[in-house]
Amino acid sequence: MALIVHKYGGTSMGSTERIKNVARRVAKWHDAGHQIVVVPSAMSGETNRLLGLAKEISTDPDPRELDMLASTGEQVSVALLAMALQAIGKQAVSYTGWQVPILTDSAHTKSRIQSIDDVKVKKDLDAGKVVIITGFQGVDDNGNITTLGRGGSDTSAVAVAAALKAAECLIYTDVDGVYTTDPRVVSEARRLKTVTFEEMLEMASLGSKVLQIRSVEFAGNYRMPTRVLSSLTDPMMPLEEEAQSGTLISFEEDTHMEQATITGIAFSRDEAKITVRGVPDKPGIAYQILGPVADANVEVDMIVQNISVDGKTDFTFTVPRADYEKSLKLVDNGIKSALGATLVVGDNKVSKVSVVGVGMRSHVGIASQMFRTLSEEGINIQMISTSEIKISVLMDEKYTELAVRALHKAFGLENG
Ligand code: ASP
Ligand code: MG
Repeated sequence: MALIVHKYGGTSMGSTERIKNVARRVAKWHDAGHQIVVVPSAMSGETNRLLGLAKEISTDPDPRELDMLASTGEQVSVALLAMALQAIGKQAVSYTGWQVPILTDSAHTKSRIQSIDDVKVKKDLDAGKVVIITGFQGVDDNGNITTLGRGGSDTSAVAVAAALKAAECLIYTDVDGVYTTDPRVVSEARRLKTVTFEEMLEMASLGSKVLQIRSVEFAGNYRMPTRVLSSLTDPMMPLEEEAQSGTLISFEEDTHMEQATITGIAFSRDEAKITVRGVPDKPGIAYQILGPVADANVEVDMIVQNISVDGKTDFTFTVPRADYEKSLKLVDNGIKSALGATLVVGDNKVSKVSVVGVGMRSHVGIASQMFRTLSEEGINIQMISTSEIKISVLMDEKYTELAVRALHKAFGLENG
């Protein structure tokens, strides 16, 4: 017998029929003798619908009230799932985030979980009940309802699993695992049986949208084995088979790694770059350029500064595409004159393509193979950044798919 947390996404909870299927699947696990906590998302489309209503009322709604509104989607889900379980003879009880409570900070619409009380939940589990807890929401010190940011139910699930010291957190979703790259771009993309937590962190931050990145951070910090698997399979499929399906996010030391140098190719079209030309090469320049951008809450990603010629240098950085105009203005208005830079230019039609793999630590030549492959396709590299387990390049957006396909092939990812 083990304590296991199941998380079901919006698609899995998308209709009463699907909720009944979730209930049958959960009951199967409970019948096998496990203690089960379920963390569902709102029914698909519901959070968007609610936020849309807010927009109809106000262009700039109060974040506290937005959380009050958006959190209701998950409350509907937990109640319906509890009823569905009861209807097939299971004892079940649902709780909202503030009933547990799941304590968060007060950063409305993007709160962070601080602690989770396990007393009530443990008691219910020991009494044989399935416990269902809302994803996405919590409560702050002052009793205000908070939410964890879009896709936050993943984080709720992993955090609940960590707090309860669960054996595993199963994230049921509409894809059957984590792939070597997006199968819509490369049809030969392969599902990974395991991926290390560090690789998953890179993939999530580089544009693979399977899990909310914070949930991966939680999994890493608490060493919570987390599995991504399909909720679209037959709910009555054999449990042993289901328990081994999907992709397990694991910890390098305790997993038998698949024998590959590169694990996956990630890409993001959500990129824009800004270059400041002719800035004086002296202390404090990077801070003067990036300080105001950071103060405006823009997340700067890649940064490159050239060697100076005649005491002047160029400075280039990337930002999320949605923050491009704002960042360009900031740099153009304030910083340019303060720094005496000659020109600010930008491009919001760029994308970032990355190869990721812990195998990079022990293999040389990955970068040169990546650059050779791109050069053979005639793709110009605009910027490069690396970490211990990834190499990212920035390129003209129109080459994204070509680059991903060529790299997937060059690193033999289709063969496993
Ligand atoms: N319902 C929330 C959203 O749509 C949270 C989640 O589904 O993870 O973002
Ligand atoms: Mg999601």
